Formats: sequence, C-alpha cells, structure tokens
Amino acid sequence: MSQEIYYKKLTELDEMLDKSEISAVELLKEFIGRTKQIEPQIGAFISFDESRALAQAAESDKRRASGRKLSALDGIPVGLKDVIAVRGQKLTCASKMLENYVSPYTATAALKLEDAGAVFWGRLNMDEFAMGSSCENSAFLKTKNPWDTTRIPGGSSGGSAAATAAGECVVALGSDTGGSIRQPASLCGIVGMKPTYGLVSRYGLAAFASSLDQIGPFARSVKDAAVLLGTIAGHDPKDSTSVKIDIPDYAAQLDAGALSGKTLGVAAEYFGDGVDAAVRKRVEEAIELCRSKGANIKEVSLPHTDLAIPVYYIIATAEASSNLARYDGVRYTHRSKLADDVISLYTKSRAEGFGEEVKRRIILGSYVLSSGYYDAYYLRAQKVRTLIRRDFERAFESVDAILTPTSPTPAFKFGEKTANPLAMYLSDICTINVNLAGLPGISVPCGFTPEGLPVGLQIIGKAFRESELLSIAYAYEQAAGFSDAHPNL
Ligand code: GLN
Repeated sequence: MSQEIYYKKLTELDEMLDKSEISAVELLKEFIGRTKQIEPQIGAFISFDESRALAQAAESDKRRASGRKLSALDGIPVGLKDVIAVRGQKLTCASKMLENYVSPYTATAALKLEDAGAVFWGRLNMDEFAMGSSCENSAFLKTKNPWDTTRIPGGSSGGSAAATAAGECVVALGSDTGGSIRQPASLCGIVGMKPTYGLVSRYGLAAFASSLDQIGPFARSVKDAAVLLGTIAGHDPKDSTSVKIDIPDYAAQLDAGALSGKTLGVAAEYFGDGVDAAVRKRVEEAIELCRSKGANIKEVSLPHTDLAIPVYYIIATAEASSNLARYDGVRYTHRSKLADDVISLYTKSRAEGFGEEVKRRIILGSYVLSSGYYDAYYLRAQKVRTLIRRDFERAFESVDAILTPTSPTPAFKFGEKTANPLAMYLSDICTINVNLAGLPGISVPCGFTPEGLPVGLQIIGKAFRESELLSIAYAYEQAAGFSDAHPNL
C-alpha cells in the first residue's frame, strides 16, 4: 500500500486498525501532523481539541485490543462543522456572536458518533450561521479549495469539505439547508450527502432554517458516507421532526450493480444557461456512463424549478430571523460594552456580533413575516414550496432517481461573488429544491474541468430511500473511478 495514510478511506483504516497495522493514537498523530503541515495553506479548522482527541484515541485502542470494538468508526478521526454542539467545546457557528460560547451539551448526531468510538478531530470552518456558499462569510478565517487555493471551497460547510478533501480528517459532518453539504463536496471533489428531512436528529445543531436543516456526511467514498450516515441516522425523542423508521445497514446494502434496470430522470430545467459548459459536459458524460451500465434514462419535467431560489430566500430568512432572535446579548452571546440601557444592549450587541450577510437575512426575514406582508410573501412561498414538492412526486412516479449537476459552476475565485449577493445565491440553484421538497440528495465526483477543478454529479432520491440512493451513487462511483483522485498539496 503506497498511498498516504491520510488519503485512505475509512473502511481501509478500519481494516488496518483491526489488523493492528496502526493504532488509533498513531493514526490520530498522522492526522495531527498532516493538519499542522497544510493548515497554513487550507485554513479548514476553527479549533482543535488535541488532548481530548488523543484521550478518545487511547480509549479506542484499549477497546480494539480487548475485542470490544464499537463500530467501523472506532478510532477514526472525524471533523465536525462548527455548528454541531459537543459538550465542553466551543460552538462558534463562525460568528463573533458565539466566539466564546462553550456548549453545555452534545448534539445527538455527535453523541452517536462518540458512541460508535469516533475521535473528534477539530471543528471546521463555515459561513457564519451556515449562511453562504463560499465560506467567505466566516467571521474568523478563509478556507481555501485544496485543488486551487486561489478559489473558494464552497459553503456553507466549506471547512468540512476542504478538510476531508485535503486529508486533514477521514470523514466529517456538515449541515445542509439549501446545498451546504452537496455544493462544497462537489467543489472539493468528494462525496457529500443531505439525508431526507427527519432522518437525522437536529438536536444540538444550531438552527438556521428549521424546516430545511439536516446534518449529513462528507467522505472520500460513497461507502464511507454510508457508514457515517448509518451511524448518525435514527429517531431521537429530543427532535420532534425526526422520524421513527428502521435504519438499515446502508454500507452493507451497497450494490455495485444497482444501475442495471434503474430508471434515472434527467430534467432540462437543471441544464439551463447558467450551467458552465465544462460542468454540463462532465454531467452529461456521467449520465451516459449510467446508461452504459444498464440504466434507462428518462426525461422528466420539474416545471417550478426556477421558483426555488426566491421561495428559499423567503422561507429560510423568515425562519432564520426567528431562530436568531435568541442571540440578544443578554444570555450566552457577545455583549456590547457600549450599551447604556436594555434596548441598546440588544441592538448594539447584535450590530457588533452579526456579520453583514446574517444581518441582511434577519432584515429580509423580519420583513416577509411582518403584518401586511406575511400573506404576500411567506404564505405564498409556502404554497409554491408545495408545488415544488409535487413536481418531484410526479417525477418519482416514473423514475427511481434524478441526475443533475450539483453546482452550476466549478469553484470560483475569492471575492468573485461577494459584492453581488444574488450571484452568490445562484450557486445553490441545483440543490435548494431538494431541501424545499425534503428529499435526500448526494453529490458524487464526476470528473474535472480543463483547469483541473472538480465537478460533482447530484443524484436526488425518494424520501427515506437512502439505501437505494446510496447504491446508485456507489454503482456510479465504481464505474467512474474518481474516488482515488486527490489534490496535490
Ligand atoms: N448557500 C445557501 C444559503 O446561503 C445554503 C446554505 C446552507 O445550506 N446552509 O443559504
């Protein structure tokens, strides 16, 4: 095995740990070394907890040595987006508002990872409160794309994507409200998945837009993503939107022959003018490859696709304005020193603590919820959301999954879209619909542009049919063979 240890897959590392070819502590030290070496170039992490990680790794070694291994994740270094709470660790959401906030409890998804023996290796950068598509809205640092460090890694989970792609962790968790897992996964050349709404508990995930947010995996292979998803999925009494269903062993059910006999939908609405020529070409090749592996390709129509961006920016901002009202300078957040009464305490703390994009969304969200405008905007948007969901329901009557680009463009340069919020919002034009409909979607690498930038294929599945979706993604990945491509750092 000549490949660098930090680019090995979770499943390979699990085997090495099983055979005592490496210990969990040694493995973690490899990642600590790798991270220290390339972080000056990449900037994926907001914070580390080296001593806690080393202690977790040492515990894992004891378990494996005495035949009490908890799961394939036992001893594996995992990164967490800094929006997922871990007791005793800072939870900043990349915001000055929460710069010094230490969480008193652990998110259910993180707890499940801990129970599976995973090692928490660091907290990953993101757009402030998960609002953005480039990671440029972080209050703390810029994360660079490992394939070209003059470019953005995508967002909002840009740190999770960059760290996984650059071999700074084996797998990572992110959150996806409108594309924040799939879009950065696509731009960084790895696998990223948003599960069906309700599959993974949101307890302990700092809320952005509660009817859209889901936690999901980043990995360097579909199989690794399946392992991670199987670990974090499942009903949680602490999240009333989490659904009571049996969680199969997704990784064990993967089927490399899954494309044969499947009907896959392609919708013209996803291949419009805004889609970059190289992206279109790679995705069309991916569709052809699926056909050559026995899939039937069928045209479907999703006529309300172009309404997704306006609908999302009404619903998401409305929910965000309500969720972010709790950051008031009184309880656990940044508190202004300039305030001389309670009203100015609220306003000054919020003015100092929140960044520009967060403020823009709070203002927009408060506006669409205000009396007199509620019916015209919020209620209307909810109705159109239903139409978008019905488009998918109709399409799924005749197809098993739908293939689209994940992002209309490859990774763009820093600063290219910061002056124009609308241009930035269009980055999620292919992913947002999936959140509005509550469906699962996965991004799988499907090649490179002539400049060497990764392109992602999005596969959209039926609600709660993650097993089938992962199998289709796995079969494509096996046929396409891009999962061993890594950036040159
Ligand atoms: N980029 C989108 C936004 O800015 C989606 C973010 C997300 O999924 N968290 O809202």
